[in-house]
Amino acid sequence: MLPGEHGLPEAIFASDGQIVNRLFAALSREADQHIACGLKEQLQILQVVWFCKHRQDLRCPACSSPSLIRKGWRHRKLKTSRGSFTLFVLQVRCRNCGRTFRPWNDRVGLPSSRRILEELEAKAIFLGTQVSFARSAQIVRQLTCGTVSAEGIRRKIAELSQKIQLPSPQKGETVLVDSTKVKAGSKERGVPVYLAVTAQPGSSQSNRPTCNKQLLHLHVGTAEPLKNLLRQRMPDYLVHDGGDNLEDCAKHVQRCRWHLGYQLKHYLWQDGIPHNFRPPFHEALMDIMKDPENGPQRYLKLANNLATCGLKTTAGHLLNAAPEAFTFLKEPGFSYIDTSPLEREMREINRRVDIGARWSSSGVESVLKVLLHQRLNETSMGQS
Ligand SMILES: [Zn+2]
Repeated sequence: MLPGEHGLPEAIFASDGQIVNRLFAALSREADQHIACGLKEQLQILQVVWFCKHRQDLRCPACSSPSLIRKGWRHRKLKTSRGSFTLFVLQVRCRNCGRTFRPWNDRVGLPSSRRILEELEAKAIFLGTQVSFARSAQIVRQLTCGTVSAEGIRRKIAELSQKIQLPSPQKGETVLVDSTKVKAGSKERGVPVYLAVTAQPGSSQSNRPTCNKQLLHLHVGTAEPLKNLLRQRMPDYLVHDGGDNLEDCAKHVQRCRWHLGYQLKHYLWQDGIPHNFRPPFHEALMDIMKDPENGPQRYLKLANNLATCGLKTTAGHLLNAAPEAFTFLKEPGFSYIDTSPLEREMREINRRVDIGARWSSSGVESVLKVLLHQRLNETSMGQS
């Protein structure tokens, strides 16, 4: 049991289990106290040594005078995941103008506004990307000795999302693009989230293929910001779902094979084909897509046959997609020809967003950007 964690109801422990749990709790409290006292002492010694060593380089921030003396300690209360901790910060006074300041703050990354240590903040942010802000605050309170408010977590995530620098696609990499609707903004059906990642097959783990993904772009709203970014970066290979026209957004553009078939069923429905008659059309298309020799000709033939039979919308769908349906045959550099590596990320998005509340567009964008940046760019946790 970590210090600060609430004990489980005693009745569910066997009696010897109780003793060992209590002993662990008591020792944890003592160890924390010991660490806190030791840290306080060591930090004070460190600051005095540092001041003696650097005093000739220090200048008064008000009058630039080098004539400085030590002027006691300032108490700073810091929240950490092991509880609140009082830090004593060395103060310095200018003999010329009388200004008191704390030169050590900047050197150790303690801006005077900081009241929560970064390690606690990082834990709270990680939780905030996984579950609702209110629940994150509750978990922090239950599993650590620190506290962070739900609003504090929301604000920290919004700040962090502004600072994130996303990578650019490298030469030869394949970019996958897809979008999904999230419950945000004022429209009943919500707004789309556009997602772009690079994807390369990784090593096989326990006989399962893995995929290395990097988040390139995520935003909530229209497709324009994504198009602008892609036109600037001009990736070599791009795979997309066909929801937007991205023909000038990469050197080689491929329609996602899976989406092509999925959308076919939708258009067959629009053309009035009953549900149980649709699968054969889908199977025929999938077979054609896997035929590297005669695929393109068979594809056009299918589209023309559909048009002749009066299935104009379905035929139009195939003809529209035709220029991008078989790019991979001419350009063998595609690492994927469908957007399936994005499915896992879409599930993560929906899992975090569907909490029964309506989001603001900027609020949902911040959380999703931090979530996927952490998953794909910062650690190997999310590689699948
Ligand atoms: Zn001064």
